[in-house]
Amino acid sequence: MQPAESRTSPATLAVHLGRPPGEPGSPVNPALVLSSTFHQGGSHAYSRDGNPTWEGFEALVGGLEGGRCLTFASGMAAISAVVETLPVPGRVVVAADAYSGTRRLLADLSQRGRLRFRTVDVAATDEVLAVCSEVAQTPGRPSGAEGTFGAGGLLWLESPTNPLLAIADVEALSAGAHGLGMDVVVDNTFASPVGQQPLRMGADVVVHSATKILSGHSDVLIGAVVTRRDEVLSQLATRRSLHGATPGALESWLALRGARTLQLRQSRSAMSAGLLARRLVEHPAVVKVYYPGLETHPGHARARRQMSDFGIMVSFEVPGGAEAADRVCDALSLVCVATSLGGVESLIERRGRWAGEEAIPAGLLRMSVGIEDPEDLWSDLSQALDAVSGSAR
Ligand SMILES: *Cc1c(COP(=O)(O)O)cnc(C)c1O
Repeated sequence: MQPAESRTSPATLAVHLGRPPGEPGSPVNPALVLSSTFHQGGSHAYSRDGNPTWEGFEALVGGLEGGRCLTFASGMAAISAVVETLPVPGRVVVAADAYSGTRRLLADLSQRGRLRFRTVDVAATDEVLAVCSEVAQTPGRPSGAEGTFGAGGLLWLESPTNPLLAIADVEALSAGAHGLGMDVVVDNTFASPVGQQPLRMGADVVVHSATKILSGHSDVLIGAVVTRRDEVLSQLATRRSLHGATPGALESWLALRGARTLQLRQSRSAMSAGLLARRLVEHPAVVKVYYPGLETHPGHARARRQMSDFGIMVSFEVPGGAEAADRVCDALSLVCVATSLGGVESLIERRGRWAGEEAIPAGLLRMSVGIEDPEDLWSDLSQALDAVSGSAR
């Protein structure tokens, strides 16, 4: 088990955590253990309760975030396990632009009477805490649950948000929510654990869609939860065994292999994202650019304080709505038009095409910047924008 607080840099931790002990003749990489069951009497019994291949990936993500990690079948499996630990009826305050799957899960549980939730603009700290205060004072707290995770309500944050890349003040919101008796979860998928570590800013639980930047190659579905609270970790381990939302051994092995290069991939992609964002601002066929690294972004100072880079995601709006945005996508030849993010290859999509994303500007394109040469990415983007706007440059 790795120390919760390590001073070693994330780049080094990502390379070294989760390896087997260095005995002469032993492999430097964890084995891919394809076995559902284990000889009786040892530390593993049945693979739904624990598989040695998961543990390398868990050691790496836990070490980077500064807590202990459990891996799940997908980001949604991780998120569901956390929500499932709430006493009934749960009370949740959630980012209005949280991941659509998270919002759909909460809406589904709310329709079935399991919890109630309110949505907030996470960038507006005072407003978020005012709503938290109302929720914390609502009568009808679940009885017999005092002191358990989420009994006083739960604040569910994302930062940067998807796809408008708003920045929440994680430290102030965590302190404020704790003062009201609430617990705090941060979905840290967009920043990744090398970009920011919410547990170190006061959050109780971090969740990841490790499908994205952590594994980094668009070839697995996998999720993770990290916490420093032992009772929460053990409840989550119980949920994982009971619900069976376990990752495959191959998936966790691939995720660990991908995460070895996390820092390299992310620093390249974040640098390219900054370059593309600044050029997009100058392009006549772009009306607005959303990137926390731009000085004009309302969350820029906050992002500078709590993140080690400004992330790999850039969103921008073209005039002419959905139709023009689709034409930009059609005119691209290098950047792949597909959903998801965080792979080595750049991806772009018109986010408003999804149900539940009607609040997003119709002409908004969300780009996940990969590790290609940024000049090649810019040539492709600028020729597509020029072609659609008819401004031959
Ligand atoms: C993709 C994503 C999820 C869901 O993860 P899956 O691995 O697809 O289940 C959750 N949160 C965020 C921010 C995401 O981008």
